[in-house]
Amino acid sequence: MAQTKKSHCPKGHEHTVKNTAVWANGRRECRACSSGRAKAYKACRDLRYSQSPRIRMWIAAKARAARVGVPFDIVVEDIVVPECCPVLGLKLERNVGQSGPADNSPSLDRFLPQFGYVPDNIRVISHRANRIKTDATPVELRRVAAWIEAEMLAALLSIARYGTLVIHGTLLQVP
Ligand SMILES: [Zn+2]
Repeated sequence: MAQTKKSHCPKGHEHTVKNTAVWANGRRECRACSSGRAKAYKACRDLRYSQSPRIRMWIAAKARAARVGVPFDIVVEDIVVPECCPVLGLKLERNVGQSGPADNSPSLDRFLPQFGYVPDNIRVISHRANRIKTDATPVELRRVAAWIEAEMLAALLSIARYGTLVIHGTLLQVP
């Protein structure tokens, strides 16, 4: 058993139980090495992204266009990043050092999604605004907003009336 396995990884880290990840296929991986690789990769990526959010958005948009099958005909210079999100007013900042975008990360929107990434059809807005919009129409967004307001009003009335939250006959914990 253990005698047939090497005691250290090629970089000299000891193969202790704690430092060894065992894959389903039996492959063993040195945790110190793999976390070192992940850190180096992240540092390099963050540097690249922080230097140019427009290049990052261009690369991501090109891949997305190919994936969803919409036109892609923009150069990096077509991407204009405003100071603030024109939808929600958030100051646009790249989420450096975090995994994934933040609400106020700049995000490239296809205004009319099916027309793809062509100069007149792109806008840089906050990730949050883009996530809310997705491919919704104005009518749909108004309906969603009206529904949320109505449900919130019902919840507030329930709290005012019963001192607790009862929605559709279900008692919820009031935080
Ligand atoms: Zn190692």
